[in-house]
Amino acid sequence: MVPQWLIEKKRDGSPLSRGEISEFINGFTAGDIPEYQMAALAMAIYFQGMTFEEVTALTETMMHSGDVIDTSTIALPKVDKHSTGGIGDKVSLVLAPLVACCDVSVPMISGRGLGITGGTLDKLESIPGYRTDLDTQEFLQMLNTCGCVITGQTASLAPADRKLYALRDVTGTVPSIPLISASIMSKKLAEGTDALVLDVKWGKGAFMKSVDQARELANTMVEIGVRMGRGMTAMITDMNQPLGCSAGNSLEIIETVQTLRGEGPADLLEVTMELAAHMLLLTDRAGDKNEALQTLQKHLDSGAAFDKFKDMVAQQGGNPGSLENLSMLPTASMEVPFPSPQEGYVADVDAEDIGKACLVLGAGRVKVTDHVDPAVGVSKLVKCGERVEKDQALALVHGNDAGRMEEAMQHITRAFDITAEVPNENPLIVETISPRK
Ligand code: URA
Repeated sequence: MVPQWLIEKKRDGSPLSRGEISEFINGFTAGDIPEYQMAALAMAIYFQGMTFEEVTALTETMMHSGDVIDTSTIALPKVDKHSTGGIGDKVSLVLAPLVACCDVSVPMISGRGLGITGGTLDKLESIPGYRTDLDTQEFLQMLNTCGCVITGQTASLAPADRKLYALRDVTGTVPSIPLISASIMSKKLAEGTDALVLDVKWGKGAFMKSVDQARELANTMVEIGVRMGRGMTAMITDMNQPLGCSAGNSLEIIETVQTLRGEGPADLLEVTMELAAHMLLLTDRAGDKNEALQTLQKHLDSGAAFDKFKDMVAQQGGNPGSLENLSMLPTASMEVPFPSPQEGYVADVDAEDIGKACLVLGAGRVKVTDHVDPAVGVSKLVKCGERVEKDQALALVHGNDAGRMEEAMQHITRAFDITAEVPNENPLIVETISPRK
């Protein structure tokens, strides 16, 4: 294979064969194809796109570039959920233990926050002692003894994706639907799940700024999964305002516990229950959505889902006592309410501005190596459509540094729009894509 001939072929709009894709990607992963040629191919893909055959071949090659976890010893069906990321998205933390109460296993390999979006691992690490570095043996053990696991990616999982993502990050080729799809799906399928439910976010706080883009991403990932023999469902959900009422690591653990106790925000519960119901449908644990929702509600109401969360935390080294006594979680030294400038209706809580405020406070990272402050962020956020009075708190801002607090407040100020008229609201769940069986 002559790498430049493949780059030229893609540049000029012809599809690459499965063999050409695997040879190129394997050559790049092994260090035989230099970064400048991989970057040129990524840019050609960015402009020309890929067919479903091509993107499936790319996913398979990246998935097999490292370990593929063999979960065949786990008797129960395996089903996972992946979200494309957003602000205040703590769905995985409620959903994994809840679904694991329903005779299915949830093998979840999650990521860290980068930029304005939060990461599930950072949230869990605000629980004292919680380990996110389980090896494959420990991962499988958790599935056997607890039924769910949430841990980080090991170095040997999809190394081609790690290398390619780092290159895309510095060559303007991240926002390509085939490259994003193959990146996400190669990692998710390497964890050994039988079925996968996708939460594809659209809006100001999401990767995908329009519903059309989100739909294209969702359809591409669903098609890849189906072609690789997995049960797939995707939901497109709103990320114009944050999900729930808090954003920031330990603040989101608190909201997770509230939700598992039946006291969580309605939007978080709705998205979690819908995604979880589709997980039960894909694994034949319910005959229809109503039955699935009833089963899930039963496990929430009985406290079984909260007990499962505490069990998972304890088995992964965390202190479950901190979930009973939430004051044991990290707290910030300053808590400042942000007052409404006027009375009216909340027309906007811009998720991107709230994400930027959290980043400035120290809840997220600008660079992969940045340290994350578990205690800072925003809580008690009002929701779009709510009526508020002048000077009523629209949010409570948690910080550990006066300078950062001041900068964060500028983003918070921009986030809110209070209007005299009742605003139109975006639907929380835009659509569900359930492919042919
Ligand atoms: N998340 C990923 O894992 N990969 C991408 O390319 C984009 C988001």
